[in-house]
Amino acid sequence: MKETDFSINKTDIGLGEHKQVKISVGKLPSGNRININASVFRSDKPGPVVLLLAGMHGDEIDGVEIVRQFLRNFAPASLKSGSLIVIPLLNIYGFLNFSRDVPDGKDVNRSFPGSRFGSLASRVASSLTTEILPLTDVILDFHTGGLGRYNFPQIRYTSGDDRSLELARVFNPPFIISKPTIAKSLRKIARKENKSILVYEGGEAQRRDEFVINLGLRGIYRILDYLEMVEYRDDKEYPLLQLSGSIWRRAAQSGFFIPQKKSGDPVKNGEVIGLIQDLLEPKEYEVKSTRNGFVIGNSYSPIVYQGDALYHIGYLD
Ligand SMILES: [Zn+2]
Repeated sequence: MKETDFSINKTDIGLGEHKQVKISVGKLPSGNRININASVFRSDKPGPVVLLLAGMHGDEIDGVEIVRQFLRNFAPASLKSGSLIVIPLLNIYGFLNFSRDVPDGKDVNRSFPGSRFGSLASRVASSLTTEILPLTDVILDFHTGGLGRYNFPQIRYTSGDDRSLELARVFNPPFIISKPTIAKSLRKIARKENKSILVYEGGEAQRRDEFVINLGLRGIYRILDYLEMVEYRDDKEYPLLQLSGSIWRRAAQSGFFIPQKKSGDPVKNGEVIGLIQDLLEPKEYEVKSTRNGFVIGNSYSPIVYQGDALYHIGYLD
């Protein structure tokens, strides 16, 4: 890429420059214009271009917090080489409505590459695909579990993408898990364009979790240090576990859910990990693990319907 080609929404950003760029995605019915804000930092010295992205799902606040806090504390002069594009909130519509999705119910992360003339989710996706993605080498995309669902901090990467696996190890989360690509997701189109992409999953929608936020921030700095973009010293190493797959344990019966394990806990095949009790009858159903592994996500719902996902269990083999 020629240096003169570094342009977002017709704004050129040269080496050594720091600019805030607005990308217009449309207007609210109230007439207020919606802009995605991208903070761009470029070192004098060329190098990798890293995108820090959060809020693709508007209610996943821990992710927004990680990138927001990074931005708040980042000193442009500390950038030794390369460029950083920082977008703390992509889906402003969902954020305003305390919702994962845009107002028509569509998921931005199932709308890539998107279109300028498509649905609202497709337009949000398109702004990222056309303005930001072509410039980037490495993408760190921050997410949380859904409403009432907690994810223990983990990095997800695309199976077979060894460069991303290497970066995932550098990030050093408690768990790393490989996933097949999902149709129309950012991970899928990024992979197609040969970009490295790590998806950080941690915490629960609409909640603040300091542990999740701190691990996310630490992971960003570790990656930037590894890419020789900033100096960061971190002597602690998590005994990270690379999981080979995951399964959901679901409620076989409706009732009152009494968890017996929490996220991060090791579990054994056949071990009772939760109980479901009846409102009136003295019946009790046991929820058992079907693998040796770890709880990497759990439901916080006190009442459950048959089929509800209760535990996400990652396994080693
Ligand atoms: Zn998400």
